[in-house]
Amino acid sequence: MAYLQKSPWLIHYDASSCNGCDIEILACLTPMYDVERFGIINTGNPKHADIFVVTGSVNERNKYVIKNIYDQMPDPKVVVAVGVCATSGGVFRECYNVSGGVDMIIPVDVYVPGCAARPESIIDGIVKALGILEEKRTAAVMGVTREQPAPAAPAEKPAGGA
Ligand code: SF4
Repeated sequence: MAYLQKSPWLIHYDASSCNGCDIEILACLTPMYDVERFGIINTGNPKHADIFVVTGSVNERNKYVIKNIYDQMPDPKVVVAVGVCATSGGVFRECYNVSGGVDMIIPVDVYVPGCAARPESIIDGIVKALGILEEKRTAAVMGVTREQPAPAAPAEKPAGGA
């Protein structure tokens, strides 16, 4: 499969992780794994990003941030949930303030397993995301809409602001 004719840029957001998965994401940037050799850049600007990488579970506060970042990213875009917390809430899923995984708020394209997720798994997830991104780009060019799972709950602004 031919991938996008540009370097894939990603934005990473730590929703409420223990930092375990975030350390592994940073490890992907170190000389040992060196994902930048593939042109993958970790950008801080959602408007420049193709891939949204999220760690940690969703709660009443960060769900607005997750939705805000997602909405600022240009189409086509893909979302990668890294670790079991981002996938389902993980070990924190029964906490009073945890709503669940990232797909409670935005559609997720790739789930990366692990607690913490290993760098090899994260890179594998990004490669899968690149394939989905290419499908979406082709569909957009052909005028076909790729089916997206609907967010389970609409984000609402809390009383008094976030
Ligand atoms: S999946 Fe494990 S390592 Fe990753 S944020 Fe959750 S508790 Fe931490």
